[in-house]
Amino acid sequence: LNRRLNGLGTTIFAEMSALATATGSINLGQGFPDTDGPREIAQAAADAVLNGRGNQYPPGPGIPELRTAVAEHQQRCYGLTYDPDSEVLVTAGATEAIAAAMLALLEPGDEVIAFEPFYDSYAACIAMAGATRVPLTLRAPDFRPDLDRLRALVTPRTRLLLLNTPHNPTGMVLTPDELSAIAELACERDLLVVTDEVYEHLVFTGGHHPIAALPGMRDRTVTISSAGKTFSFTGWKVGWATGSPDLIAAVRTAKQYLTYVSAGPFQYAVAEALRLPDSYFTTLRTDLLRKRDLLADGLRAAGFEVYTPQGTYFITTDITPFGEKDAYAFCRTLPERCGVVAIPNSVFYDDPDAGRSQVRFTFCKQDDVLSDATARLRRLG
Ligand code: PMP
Ligand code: GLN
Repeated sequence: LNRRLNGLGTTIFAEMSALATATGSINLGQGFPDTDGPREIAQAAADAVLNGRGNQYPPGPGIPELRTAVAEHQQRCYGLTYDPDSEVLVTAGATEAIAAAMLALLEPGDEVIAFEPFYDSYAACIAMAGATRVPLTLRAPDFRPDLDRLRALVTPRTRLLLLNTPHNPTGMVLTPDELSAIAELACERDLLVVTDEVYEHLVFTGGHHPIAALPGMRDRTVTISSAGKTFSFTGWKVGWATGSPDLIAAVRTAKQYLTYVSAGPFQYAVAEALRLPDSYFTTLRTDLLRKRDLLADGLRAAGFEVYTPQGTYFITTDITPFGEKDAYAFCRTLPERCGVVAIPNSVFYDDPDAGRSQVRFTFCKQDDVLSDATARLRRLG
């Protein structure tokens, strides 16, 4: 392994999911629903395969139907206008869009400011691009970004702000005021913004606001999302990026040599999914809100300190009430202690103290699974 990837051996999600399988535990670690998305969307994917749509290499930037559906979705949800031909790119999940954006937009030695705790692929992709990650640490209990600190972190080498709202793992959702302050800074210091909005439809408080919609931001922002979380098909790996023609052409150049194209038939199905009526998105949110509260109550009853998320399908907790401090050690032994798997947030921090005792649980599971898990966790006390 080269020096750039030093320390990035196995992702925590693979490690903890393997532990769940090996021990037969309830997996509240890796974020994937235990119920698939809408039947008619699954049927659309099956029909595409059987009717020969997308079984051979689809167009590099994505099938026109999906690029149009993404543009329509950005218009319908946020009033953002994108040209499907030059301003939308389909990728192999949001993961590839993040990688392609970092490889296309960064020079070696550039600095990228990102929230810490960070989603793990950010560190790897910034490293693969030869750039340097500069963390803006979000701290419990509310994980709000310190915007004065953000301003102070910008140097002449800063090229890009890598945002994530709703934020994985903390569930923090940026407010319109915070977004305006970040946008002003980006304009003033002429920074690019890459914003990962894969949880855009999983917001419980305050709504989701894309930074691309703010004054001066459209042409300096690459917005990334994917079908995985919104439509509960995380295995399909259909993602997309939207932005100005220059930025999207750059990201497309990198994407061409990463995967060339993304799987064809799923693109037809996701194009249909993006056109589902508003009621689909409302029901998704209301169901998850109920699950959030179910898990939060259960975790509190089991003795955890719970930081209620405003978005995503994750709850960050603190294990200090159990007299424990090391989240990683806690998560390694949790399966044998009570048959539950969770994710230690500590691995998403550079600052070893900031998240040392934080543990993340996902609530995108059936109600009885959540109840069973919290009953098991009560044995810890
Ligand atoms: N960004 C964040 C913040 C995530 O939590 C995830 C996990 N789904 C991704 C990106 C990757 O998304 P995809 O599965 O579409 O590649
Ligand atoms: N995004 C999911 C999570 O945070 C997992 C994705 C992955 O396994 N890379 O749990």
